[in-house]
Amino acid sequence: MRNVPHEQFKGGVPLTGPRLVDLDSRAARAHDSFCQASQSGWRFLVLAEIANFAVLRRYLGRPRADTLIVDVAARIRDALPDSRVEIAGREVAEIAFESEARLALDVAIAAIEVAFEVPFDIDGESHMINVQLGAAAAAAHRDEVHLIEEAERALVDARTEHVAIARDVTGSPAAIDRMELAQDLGRAIEREELFLQYQPKVHLRRQKITSVEALVRWNHPTRGLVLPNDFIPLAEESRDIVALTLWTIRRAIKDQVSLAAHGHDLRIFINIAGALLADTGFVSLACALVETSGAQLGFEITETSVIRDPDSAIANLNVFAGIGIVIAIDDYGAGLSSLAYLKQLPARELKIDKLFVTQLTSSNRDPLIVRSTIDLAHALDMEVVAEGVETQAAMALLSVMGCDMIQGFLISRPINLEALIHFLDDGKYQALAADVRAPFNRLATVWKRG
Ligand code: C2E
Ligand code: CA
Ligand code: CA
Repeated sequence: MRNVPHEQFKGGVPLTGPRLVDLDSRAARAHDSFCQASQSGWRFLVLAEIANFAVLRRYLGRPRADTLIVDVAARIRDALPDSRVEIAGREVAEIAFESEARLALDVAIAAIEVAFEVPFDIDGESHMINVQLGAAAAAAHRDEVHLIEEAERALVDARTEHVAIARDVTGSPAAIDRMELAQDLGRAIEREELFLQYQPKVHLRRQKITSVEALVRWNHPTRGLVLPNDFIPLAEESRDIVALTLWTIRRAIKDQVSLAAHGHDLRIFINIAGALLADTGFVSLACALVETSGAQLGFEITETSVIRDPDSAIANLNVFAGIGIVIAIDDYGAGLSSLAYLKQLPARELKIDKLFVTQLTSSNRDPLIVRSTIDLAHALDMEVVAEGVETQAAMALLSVMGCDMIQGFLISRPINLEALIHFLDDGKYQALAADVRAPFNRLATVWKRG
């Protein structure tokens, strides 16, 4: 036990009452920045455990040892007046606080360490209480359980390493990656790092490609190809989605002109993120682009995006439909499906989510869902597209079910404009689509279950 006599601290720091600012300049700086912190951004949890509890108990006796944690909590409250300090056990205090700066945690840990350099007056005797600190930092929205678990893990490490350990829940490599990617995205459009690929939709009865879907990709200078699922959600959070989608519309309009010059008149479908359906600025800019170009576009929207703000979404979809943009409902079946909304939407196409299509010929349930969706869409005067068609067997089954169009790796992966032009010129897909009934005979047992 480090039992430090009073004398050593004469002229030093009084034992009770002082705020952190009295302790020393390191802690004073710490306290200043701590107080400047606001209540958002990061949340922190520090577990302070009495490291020399067993030794103190032997010396002081159990009743007094059991109340040591009260002294510890009081000392920490003095050091960090803006935090919430609670006694979490006989040997452990919990310190919680928020800040906009990640650095606030290091500052707080330093402040606690400084505060415990001063001995405690216990029943007239001077004793050092040594604390070990395990801490965790997380983004403000992260759940508390996660934070506690990380702090506990940090405390376990602190016990063996004999230094304060902080674990960063938010600062996992993936989270840092996301932040960096979000920052880069803002510049990606100006630097022309984005590009479009197109995936055709084949009309089964007409055996013809009537439209293509534009899918955005990002050629990142250091990471290489980044796919949309990794950056569209970031763009939605940062509002870069507006500029990104307007760029996509412009690019698609230009590419449509190139396709037409090669003899291919195709409607180009663009994915429209939900947040944009209620954005009047976006709606008027998008309409202006489409109207002045005379392009033949389609917008793919999800039902979930309509459910967010149905009144403005439905009004804006009517504006789009009014200027000749074909509305398609994307990912049908993947999210919340609401027939009430479906009927109100000026949609001409319903795209069955690939979730149901990729397993179509191996599942008992999915053919039933797909079949009833096709019937429903037809009853509502919509054409049906099945996305994620990867096999001839799935294509054959869909054809028999009355599905109007198919899209998927079986026909083509998303490809660059030049490759699309070549693909259309070549016309090989027609033979594939013409073969549609042949493989179906082999599937009779699967379909009989329906
Ligand atoms: P989505 O609209 O459902 O697009 C279809 C996704 O499925 C594409 O992935 C496509 O490459 C993939 N896919 C196509 N055929 C098959 C198949 O036969 N099997 C399988 N397993 N997958 C297939 P991608 O290109 O990575 O796009 C992912 C999502 O990113 C899209 O899903 C769409 O929601 C979003 N997205 C893409 N481009 C844009 C855009 O310009 N704006 C917005 N807001 N979202 C976009
Ligand atoms: Ca889509
Ligand atoms: Ca889809």
